[in-house]
Amino acid sequence: MDCIFCKIISGEIPSKKVYEDESVYAFYDINPMAPVHVLIVPKTHIASINELTPENSAVVAHIYEVAAKLAKELGVAESGYRMVSNCGADAGQTVFHLHFHLLGGRPLKVDMC
Ligand code: 5GP
Ligand code: ZN
Repeated sequence: MDCIFCKIISGEIPSKKVYEDESVYAFYDINPMAPVHVLIVPKTHIASINELTPENSAVVAHIYEVAAKLAKELGVAESGYRMVSNCGADAGQTVFHLHFHLLGGRPLKVDMC
């Protein structure tokens, strides 16, 4: 499948890995929008939030557990951070493999949209 994030997970495209387990991969965003900008993705190809079902959605809870662990390790658990998942054109989704941006390390804009 021609998916950038599947290629990052397989190692075909290099990335700066932050965390990996049997179902999740996390790596630094190539174009960071904040001092801490990590992408957390399921290893299974799911195109976006739109593709979540009762059969595949458990990984999302696991991604949030990983986010809590990484926020501590990256030093933003106390200062604060934001998890963002863009879905579709109006949200500006550019990579159609479900991913969560973990953003922090400075006060983030209060505007959500
Ligand atoms: P989206 O706009 O779909 O929510 O987020 C996609 C994110 O993936 C962007 O923040 C972009 O910088 C990041 N990204 C795109 N291609 C690559 C890549 O090859 N490597 C890494 N590390 N990040 C990428
Ligand atoms: Zn993929």
